Amino acid sequence: MAWVITRMCRDCVDMACVEVCPVDCIVQHKQKGDAAGYENQLYIDPEECINCGVCEPECPWEAIFEDEQVPTVFDEDTAQNAKIVDERDDFEVPEREDVAVPSTDDINKNKAKWKYDA
Ligand code: SF4
Ligand code: SF4
Repeated sequence: MAWVITRMCRDCVDMACVEVCPVDCIVQHKQKGDAAGYENQLYIDPEECINCGVCEPECPWEAIFEDEQVPTVFDEDTAQNAKIVDERDDFEVPEREDVAVPSTDDINKNKAKWKYDA
């Protein structure tokens, strides 16, 4: 059991989730958006995640799901989070940056962009 960060996270620079994770398992590729095969978003190492769930309510973009609850449209993201286990040395815990909280309209537009109907 682990939690998963989906593509709805892409280009968020808030990283509120990182601040609350008790085991520092929410990470970013060291090359950020320039890493081959990895988009500019954060990932959860499923082998380090202790399934506490405290990150989920902190995410303004509603991008985090428990693995068994990940919407079908984000199936590839579950695999992508799992993939980092083998490349963990290329990832690090990012620094928190303060940015404006997205509006409800922003959040809904992001969901529509990724064809997430919720
Ligand atoms: S708070 Fe949500 S959208 Fe922002 S970096 Fe964390 S998972 Fe991504
Ligand atoms: S569920 Fe807990 S341990 Fe797992 S990524 Fe979220 S805050 Fe970290």
